[in-house]
Amino acid sequence: MNSELLIKNGRVIDPANGVDKECDVLIVDGKIAVVGKPEKPAQTVIDAAGKLVTPGLIDIHVHFREPGDEEEETIASGSAAAVAAGFTSVVCMPNTNPPIENETDVEYVHRKARQARKTHVYTMGAITKARAGVELAEMGFMAEAGAVGFTDDGSGVQDPAVMLKALKYAGMFDVVVSQHCQDNGFAGNGVMNAGYYSTILGLPGIDKLAEEAMLWRDIQLVKKTNVRYHAQHISTAGSVELIRAAKKDSLPVTCEVTPHHLLLTEQCCADYDTNYKVNPPLRSAEDIEALKEAIAEGLVDALVTDHAPHLQSEKELEFLTAPFGIASLECALGLYVKALIEPAVLGWPRLIELMTAGPAKVIGVDKGTLSKGRQGDVTIIDPNAEYEIDVNKFRSKSRNCPYHSWKIKGRVEKTIVGGEIRFEA
Ligand SMILES: [Zn+2]
Ligand SMILES: [Zn+2]
Repeated sequence: MNSELLIKNGRVIDPANGVDKECDVLIVDGKIAVVGKPEKPAQTVIDAAGKLVTPGLIDIHVHFREPGDEEEETIASGSAAAVAAGFTSVVCMPNTNPPIENETDVEYVHRKARQARKTHVYTMGAITKARAGVELAEMGFMAEAGAVGFTDDGSGVQDPAVMLKALKYAGMFDVVVSQHCQDNGFAGNGVMNAGYYSTILGLPGIDKLAEEAMLWRDIQLVKKTNVRYHAQHISTAGSVELIRAAKKDSLPVTCEVTPHHLLLTEQCCADYDTNYKVNPPLRSAEDIEALKEAIAEGLVDALVTDHAPHLQSEKELEFLTAPFGIASLECALGLYVKALIEPAVLGWPRLIELMTAGPAKVIGVDKGTLSKGRQGDVTIIDPNAEYEIDVNKFRSKSRNCPYHSWKIKGRVEKTIVGGEIRFEA
């Protein structure tokens, strides 16, 4: 391993430190040593002229399917996809088979990630045993083993008393509780957004209230406990209103948004293409506008993918029975450029913040900046390179991606993890 790596002449964007200027970044022994103009030459030099040099991107919501569904994704294949997409850290969701619900499970994920040697892999632990929503999982032991949050993602915790207990318990070790907000009473057996399109397609709908009712309830619980709470993949204008009010009240509430909820609407389901079947479902154009406004306003803390790989054979089932999910990790950056930079919702520094320092803060890890002494995690991006998404080139094992053949801008050139070049375009 090189002990000195110099990245020269790039546009260095480090939002947490207010840096946006042309300069060099020197990494020594895997740590950030200088952001500026280093005096002496380094062993390895990368010319980044015309490129963006940013803290390594962080995705706090991915599904790597291991253990249990290794034919869809493994920690190794997911990690390879992650570095190819510029992510130096990801957070796995615990809804594997069996779920991540004790310290041995957490250690298993970490061990697999170390073996893969690609990106840093964190994991959240389940809130409840078997994600059944009844009995709390071993949150304390999981926190000790390094779990960076708790969630029953894939479903929401239905029982308010269980959720209250979970928040109180998590508060004892200051780990964030994340929620897939979905009240099953409202969601029923729905497979897409409830509205005009679900009616004409003859498909059961998921009302927006399913998300908003649980988010509203949880915010009341946060008022009572004052424990860090994170709303995953918010998708409706009503949820934006709730987050706005919670933040106005200075509650410790954060939220995230996915690319598909910014780029695709329920209308995409009109051909019964299951690559558009996702949970929460694709909503309306008005919801997209509300989410973009929320991002512009600073109400959203993190941009994520909710990368949810599935087998083609499963996605080939009819719309009613196919599994929910979109595999989008490998095109995430370009999708966000299309959704947010091209329509001028925000510029590069804010986009990078929402993919680095923002998510790091949500999970409470000391990452997402180029501060001196931090781990040398850096992403080099060509902001002008345009390319066509080809799912057949994915490192991910799955192809359930509705963006195939889309043209996007913003290509990851190099991904550096701990001072080591782990991906080169
Ligand atoms: Zn979810
Ligand atoms: Zn998810």
